[in-house]
Order: sequence, then C-alpha cells, then structure tokens
Amino acid sequence: MRRISYITLTLLLLIITSSQGFSQLRCGTMQRWNADTKDHPQLIEKRQIIENDIIKWEKSTALNSYNIPVVFHILYENESENIIIEQIQNQLDVLNQDFNRNNPDANQTPAEFLNVAANCNINFCLAQRTPNNDSTSGITYTQTDISSFSLYDNRIFHDSLGGKTIWNPERYLNIYVCDLTNALGFSSFPGGIESRDAVVINYSNFGTIDVSPPFNKGRTATHELGHWLNLLHIWGDSNCGNDQVQDTPIQDTENYGCPSHPSPTCSNNGDMFQNFMDYTDDACMNLFTEGQKDRMHATLNSQRTDLIQSQACSLPYEDIGIIENVSPANNQDFCGYEFELITSLYNYSTSSVYETQIYFQIDDDETQMMEWSGDLLPNSSVEINLGNYTLSAGQHTLLIYSSSPNGFRDLNPNNDTLVVNFNLKDGSPFEFQIQTDNYAEENRWEILNDNNEIIAYENELVSNQLNTFSFCQDVDSCYTLVVYDEYEDGICCDFGNGFISINNQVFNGNFNSEIEFDLCTISTIKELSQQDALIVYPNPSNGMLIIESPFKIEYIRIYDLMGKIVLEKNCHNKEEELNLYHLDKGPYLVLISTQNEYTQYQKIIIQ
Ligand SMILES: [Zn+2]
Repeated sequence: MRRISYITLTLLLLIITSSQGFSQLRCGTMQRWNADTKDHPQLIEKRQIIENDIIKWEKSTALNSYNIPVVFHILYENESENIIIEQIQNQLDVLNQDFNRNNPDANQTPAEFLNVAANCNINFCLAQRTPNNDSTSGITYTQTDISSFSLYDNRIFHDSLGGKTIWNPERYLNIYVCDLTNALGFSSFPGGIESRDAVVINYSNFGTIDVSPPFNKGRTATHELGHWLNLLHIWGDSNCGNDQVQDTPIQDTENYGCPSHPSPTCSNNGDMFQNFMDYTDDACMNLFTEGQKDRMHATLNSQRTDLIQSQACSLPYEDIGIIENVSPANNQDFCGYEFELITSLYNYSTSSVYETQIYFQIDDDETQMMEWSGDLLPNSSVEINLGNYTLSAGQHTLLIYSSSPNGFRDLNPNNDTLVVNFNLKDGSPFEFQIQTDNYAEENRWEILNDNNEIIAYENELVSNQLNTFSFCQDVDSCYTLVVYDEYEDGICCDFGNGFISINNQVFNGNFNSEIEFDLCTISTIKELSQQDALIVYPNPSNGMLIIESPFKIEYIRIYDLMGKIVLEKNCHNKEEELNLYHLDKGPYLVLISTQNEYTQYQKIIIQ
C-alpha cells in the first residue's frame, strides 16, 4: 500500500514540475554527495569521524546563539538572473526568521509538534569585508557566458571557468545564486570538498519577491542551509530511515506538495512534513526541531569553529605585529647549544584578535608556521613560546613575522617582521652562589683559569646576602674557584648560616681560611694525542654513533658537560656502534681507550 502511494506522489511531482516547463529535483544535495564520494571515497570516512565528534559534543559547552557571515555570489547570464539587492535582503530575512523561529507561519506547526519546535538561535549577517580586508556589501556579481549550470557543474566555483571562486569557507558561508538546472538547490556537507563548501540556489526560487509558487517563500535556501549545517533529510534518505535526530518521527519517504495532517507512515502518528528538511512546498514548511538544533549547534562547535568566531561582519581592521623577540633577544649570547624561542605579539587594532599565524625562519632553514589563538585585546601584547631549538655554536639569525590576524590580511605590514641576530657559545652555563654570614667583610672569592689567571672575583660582599655569579664555561677547560675567609672561621655556622652553591649543588660553609673547588667540565680525561687515529661519525648524530679504530677498542665512555658519565661500554672490536637515542640533545665528550693505551676524546653533538 505504501509503495503505491509513493509512486502516486512521484507521478504527482512530475505533473507539477512538467507543468512549469522544467524538471527539477527539490534538492540535489544527496545526488551531489554521492557523486563526490564516488570520486573521493575518503570523504565517507571523514564524515563518519565528524559524526562521532557530533555524538561526543557536550551541549553544556555551547554558546547561546551564533552569528554567521554570509557572502552571496550572484552568477548571471541575463538580467532576470541578476538578482536585485532587495531580493537578497529578503532571502536573508527568511533565513533569520526560520532559524530563530520568527517565521510568520510558525503558528501553522501542528500542536503535537510544538514541544519540539526549536528556536535554533542561528543568525546570518552580510559580510562587511572581503578576505583581503576590503569593505564589501557581502554580495558579488559575476556576469557569465554560461546560460545555465547543471547540478554537477563545478564551474560554478571557479573564476576562470565562468563562475566565482569561493571565499575562505572557514570565514564565510558562501551562497551562490545562478541558473541551476536539475535541482532547486544543493549544499555541501561539513567535511566535503573545501573548494565547494557552499550552498547553491536556483535564481527563480530564491527570495520571495515576485517568485512563483510553490517554491516562493525562500525555503529552498532554508532547507539547503540545514544540510550545510549537517542536517539530513527527515526520512533519512531511505524507507523509514534514520536522520540521526531523535525527535523527528521516523517517516517512510519524502513528501511533496502539502499533504493533510496527520499523515501517518512507518507506525508514526503522522509524518512531520512541516519540517524544513522534507520536500514539501514552501508554504507547507514551518519548523526545525530541538534535535535538529542540537545537531546544527554540535556541527558549528566541532566542524565550523572558525566560522562562529569569524569577524567578517564587523568593520574593524586588524593590525598585528611582532614588537620584540623575548628569546633570543637581538644580539643575545647563549651559553651552549640550546635556546628557547619566545616572541611577543602586539595587537595594534581597535578590536580583539582571536588568532593569527606566526612564521619564523632560523638561518637558511625551512620557514615554520605556528597558529596562535586566544583573545588579545587592543593595544596589548602576549608572549608566545615557539619551542626549544638546538643549533651549532656561532652566529645565527632569526626572521620572524606575523600574518593573517583573525584570518584576514594585516592592514599594516610595516610592523609585522623582526630580524634578530644571536650567538651560541661553545660551553656550558656555570652558576656560583654564595650566601654570606654576619661578617661578609672577612670574605672574598675568585675564579682562576687553566693559566692561573683570575677571570672573576668579588672583594666586597654584603653580609647575610645571597650573591650570584654566572659565566659560560669552556667545554674542554678547568677552572678553580676559591672562597677566602680572613678570620679563618668559614661562613658557617657560629655567626650566621652561609653556604656555597655550584650549579645547584650546595656545600656548607664550614671551612677555615679558604675552600677550593675544581671546576673541570671533563674531570678525569687526559688526552694522549693520536687525534686522527680514530674516526667518530656521524657528528652531529641523531642518536646512532659509529667509532672506528685501527686498534682494538677497550672501552668507551661518554660524558656530559658537567663531567658526568652518561654511558660506559667495554669493547673487544675495532668498530663499535653506540645507541645514544636516550640522551638529551646537546654536546657530549666521547672518551675512547684502545689496547695500545691510546686514549682520545672527541666532542660530539646529539641533535
Ligand atoms: Zn535536501
């Protein structure tokens, strides 16, 4: 019985459409989707991932309402297709009514559906600026040689092919109006092909001014925007199918015209043919449901997150820049091979910047990009950590610049870019601290190098104070630190509580006239020549190291810069392969001892 009624309705549709002199699908969205997935089967998996995201989405985290910037692209071959601005405004009004349950025919919703009829709280505004940050009416007009576009015609989306290239779909909802054959309209689904992430409406059923019934109330656009926000047809595109929404009754198939209510199928109490996602006439449709609203909100919050933050409907123009680099600062010297990259972003605009791109290049390396997001108020700055980097010793240059604030062109490129020179020095940082007792005038300290020359000293210490001194210690050299006490009673413990700390290792100040510390970076190594006898490679190493020797190797030790042994291996061969992946990046010393008592050390860098 059901099958017969379906055929009857289909025949009815053919009669309706042919009486108008054309044959058009009410909606071509599924046909296009099926065609797209044939060419790009990976889209099916992508849509399944999106579906999982939607199921996981927590309603409690949502905004109350959404504002979506729209650009209308009018493609016309003749004047009747050249839609007037009043018609565009009027279509926009219909969308804002239907998605906010302000539609004048909301009172036509049957009583039993009123408890699920939803104010979706989604607003659509005309874009006020282009992706290039120029002002716009939110409407583009393109005259084309193409007299009509078929449902599968992707020339619509390309400037060079007689259409109009899409505006960044992460910032704009793109609605095309053109002479579309085969269908009244179609839409992409979220997760579809980005260059066609848009809604397309046939010009003769767009808006409500002088439009012929039955598709004369702007509901083709309402329906297609439902798809664009991830709604499925209310019958789930199969007999008694699932539209992934709980509060729409399961119904057999699409409805045409305007059936009388109730019209039960699939054991329901009546199809919800008044739903915008059915195929009924415009005058017959009047609601979205709460379940459909949740699905659209979940989609906005998981798939169209940039769009709900898009500033395309507001006028302020973004200007962002890098005012200084915190680390490395210009001409900064680093001790060692590692440095942290921290930059400072400044908002010169009169409104907030929510996201921007930061590009940076070190020496001639590849340029890297990082997307920053947050809320940077006007005339304020934020420090952004771009990670840790290891380089060889010497002079380096950093080029850093900001781009695309809020996804738009930066209007003042003069403050975007900074060039910073910095220096990495062979060595390791050394820090010495002394906490004095009550009689600091009895104390002084000095640091001597290998040649017994004083490289640093302090004679005027202040009582009961922590004094800090740091310098960059050469890799392969020794220093001596001496702390003196004239009264020969140390700095602990009768008259205060002094102490000495070297690289965070604390020694109590219990000595007599002086205390001496040997500060060799590599303490126990004596070099015995034969520099070229052994080969160590690759250097710098990614973690794998090969050592080749003309003699049998007896043992290998690897030291870090503090002289601590981080690896020790006894050997019996002339060639050894070491696995050093577990070591931190940076410089090390390798000590190799062979059976002929040759001992060699060599600096390596692990990167
Ligand atoms: Zn549809």
